[in-house]
Amino acid sequence: MHPALDQLSDRLLIQCRLSHAAAAARIADEHDTGLVLTGSSPEPTVRYLRDQGFDRPILCDADRYSGTRRISAGKGIRPAWCRRQHDLGLTALTDSGYLATRNWTGLRTILRAAARQPEPTIAMLPLAARWFATPSVCDALARVINGQHVPVALAIEHRSDPFGAQYVLRGFLRLLDAIAVPVLLLRCDVSALGALCHGAHAAAIGTVSALRHFYPITVGGGPPPPRVSAFVTPLLSYHRLDTCERVVAGTPELHQLWPCDCPACHGATPAQLSTTEDPPVATTEHSLHAQLRLRAELLRHTGEQGLSAWHEACSHALFVHDQVAETTTRWLAPANLRTWYAVTRDPLPHRTGIPRQPGRRAARTPRPLG
Ligand SMILES: [Zn+2]
Repeated sequence: MHPALDQLSDRLLIQCRLSHAAAAARIADEHDTGLVLTGSSPEPTVRYLRDQGFDRPILCDADRYSGTRRISAGKGIRPAWCRRQHDLGLTALTDSGYLATRNWTGLRTILRAAARQPEPTIAMLPLAARWFATPSVCDALARVINGQHVPVALAIEHRSDPFGAQYVLRGFLRLLDAIAVPVLLLRCDVSALGALCHGAHAAAIGTVSALRHFYPITVGGGPPPPRVSAFVTPLLSYHRLDTCERVVAGTPELHQLWPCDCPACHGATPAQLSTTEDPPVATTEHSLHAQLRLRAELLRHTGEQGLSAWHEACSHALFVHDQVAETTTRWLAPANLRTWYAVTRDPLPHRTGIPRQPGRRAARTPRPLG
């Protein structure tokens, strides 16, 4: 493996807009990780960060695959974009277009062109979710990827959360098992941690909702409006600040779960981020710190222990969601946690020593995570 790719190993990267790069870099530095800068002219930002002493890995996502002006994968990649990144001393990420389901020609076009670029280069594959619909298509996808020996970065298009769909998660895990090259997962949320525990080479969480998702183009609609949401570690999910307030106020018996000692919260609960000087900025910082701390905790484990730790984290979060649902109307645990819990198995089922009942999560006392 190229040394530059080795540097990305097991990293939970921060994916951000160019305008947020300086703030994201400060947090990345603190947690020994890198950035995925999203935008078409990253050079001034990369030079600024390097001048400021930021020496962690940086990838550049040209993001030509999303939005109403996205291009199709059949357009190929621009070698000049790769060259620009190499000139900056970076690993190149191709500026691929959108890969509609079974666009095999587009897939081969991207991979062959990426394989012709100097190393280190990663082929960006912005995939429609239906690529994961059947095992045979997943296996064929893996064979084509393995045929070019070039590392790949996936972003998965979905109208809500790809990892909330069981067929996507099953297909994604099948693909991870079958692919022989490093696989990165970009534009993700907390499921990035699940992907890392299951063997993804690296993964990226977005600083804002639009960079935690890759939405399809819809007629007369579009993605949901952006909103300020905080990652709540014991729930392993994002919630609006007013929702956080309702949860904290409605669950006095869980009061020990909610305080966060990250540099943005200073021991307050995420609900109190609404009283900070700049709630959107403080909330973003908190969410990144919280997930990067969780990554450090989970990635202490390797192999089966890592799989077990992630399954246990999902199980525990679902249990806390159950507790919250008892006092909060219309509360539903997030689809991605339910899916991770349903699709994956704990390979070390006796780790906790608590016998599990079929169809029920093991009862336990909620405890703070992280
Ligand atoms: Zn915090």
